[in-house]
Amino acid sequence: MQAQPSGTGSHLSHLYCPKSGERYDADRIQQLSRIGAPLLAAYDLASLARSWRPADLAGREPTLWRYRELLPVRDPAHVVSLGEGFTPLLPLPRLGRELGIGGLWMKDEGIVPTGSFKARGAAVGVSRARELGVTRLAMPTNGNAGAAWALYAARAGIRATIVMPKDAPAITRQEIAICGADLYLVEGLISDAGRIVAQAVAEGGLYDASTLKEPYRIEGKKTMGLELAEQCGWRLPDVILYPTGGGVGLIGLHKAFKELRELGWIDPSRPLPRLVAVQASGCAPIVRAWEARATVSEFWPDSRTVAFGINVPKALGDFLVLEALYESEGCAVAVDDDDLLAAQRRAAECEGAFVCPEGAALFAAARELRRNGWIRGGERVVALNTGAGIKYPDTFRADPPLLQPGDRLPL
Ligand SMILES: *Cc1c(COP(=O)(O)O)cnc(C)c1O
Repeated sequence: MQAQPSGTGSHLSHLYCPKSGERYDADRIQQLSRIGAPLLAAYDLASLARSWRPADLAGREPTLWRYRELLPVRDPAHVVSLGEGFTPLLPLPRLGRELGIGGLWMKDEGIVPTGSFKARGAAVGVSRARELGVTRLAMPTNGNAGAAWALYAARAGIRATIVMPKDAPAITRQEIAICGADLYLVEGLISDAGRIVAQAVAEGGLYDASTLKEPYRIEGKKTMGLELAEQCGWRLPDVILYPTGGGVGLIGLHKAFKELRELGWIDPSRPLPRLVAVQASGCAPIVRAWEARATVSEFWPDSRTVAFGINVPKALGDFLVLEALYESEGCAVAVDDDDLLAAQRRAAECEGAFVCPEGAALFAAARELRRNGWIRGGERVVALNTGAGIKYPDTFRADPPLLQPGDRLPL
C-alpha cells in the first residue's frame, strides 16, 4: 500500500496485527485485530527516507507535532493540541553521584499539559479519532489517561465516558469532571473498569479508547523516543528506564528507535538503548514474566502500589513489552513502595525535581541495577519521569511547625 499524500506530510501507510501480520486499512476506524491483538501503525519509511532529513526539523514548533511525517494525522485541521511535547532532558549530577551513575539524565514529562505524559497519547489519539469521524469515546483508566483523554476530547468536541477505580488519584477526577466528561468510579481495579467499558462498547456506538485497543495512543507516546533521539544529537543513550503499567510508552520508545534506524537517522551499527521496565513489587507481572523468559505475562492478583499509574495486573500489550525488552537486551525490575517513596524525596532534595511516584521508582531501580553491575560505570542512563509529583499530594506528608503572629524563627 502506498501512503496517500496528505496535508501534514504523514506517511502513514497501513495498520498491521503484530501477531498474525495481517494488514488493516488505516483510514477506517479500527480497534483490535481479528485475533484480539493491538494493531500497530506502519509508515512508508522507504519513501520518507528519501524526502525527510533531521535538518528539516530546524525551526519547527517545539511540540510533538514537529514529527508529523511519522504521525498518523493527515489533515492539519484535525490536530488537537494543548502544546504537548518537547520536554526537557535534564542532567541529574547530584542524584547520579549518589547512585554511582555519572551520566544520569531525566526526561521530564511532568510539565506537559494535564501533568502526565498521557497527554502525548491523548493528543495523537484524539486527533486521529476526530479525523476518522469519532463523536463518542469511552475508556477505563487509573486516572492520568482518563484526565488527558477527557481534556483533549473536550477540545476536539468529542464526548468522553471515563470509568476509573475509586482509589485513583483524586486530582484526576477533577480534571475529568471539570471538562464535562461522563465520569464513573468503580469499587475495584482498572481491570474491573475495563470490563464495564468493554460491555458498553459491545452494546454499540462508542469508540473504545482503552490502552492499545485503538492504534494511535502509542504513536503519541512514540514521540518521547523521537524527541530523546533529537535531544541526544541522534546518538541514543545506553539505558532507558521506564515505569511500566500497560507498557505503551516502552513499546513506543522501541518503535521510535526502530523507525529512526530504518530512516537512517541513527547509526545502525550501534546497539539500541537497553530498555528497563520498572514495576512496583506489589504489581510486577512483566518482571515475573521477564525473569521466566516468558513471552506473555500472567494476571497479578490483588495488585497494590502507591504508584497508581503502574498498577496494571495484566497488560494487553504484554507480549510487545517483553519483545522490546528481549530485542533491546533490556531487563525488568520491581521496586518496593518504601524505596520508591524514599527515592522521590531524594530526587526533590538533590535535584529540585518533584517527580511522580512512578517516576521515582526509576531511581530506586537504577540504584539497584548499578549496585549489581547491570548498569556499568560510564554508561549514559535516561530515566523517563512520566508525570508531576504535584498530582499526588498524598504520597508525601509535610509536617511544618505552626507559628503564631509575632513568633520568632528558631535561627
Ligand atoms: C500510565 C502511567 C504510567 C504507565 O504507562 P504505560 O505506558 O501504560 O506503561 C507510568 N507513569 C504514569 C504517571 C502514568 O500515568
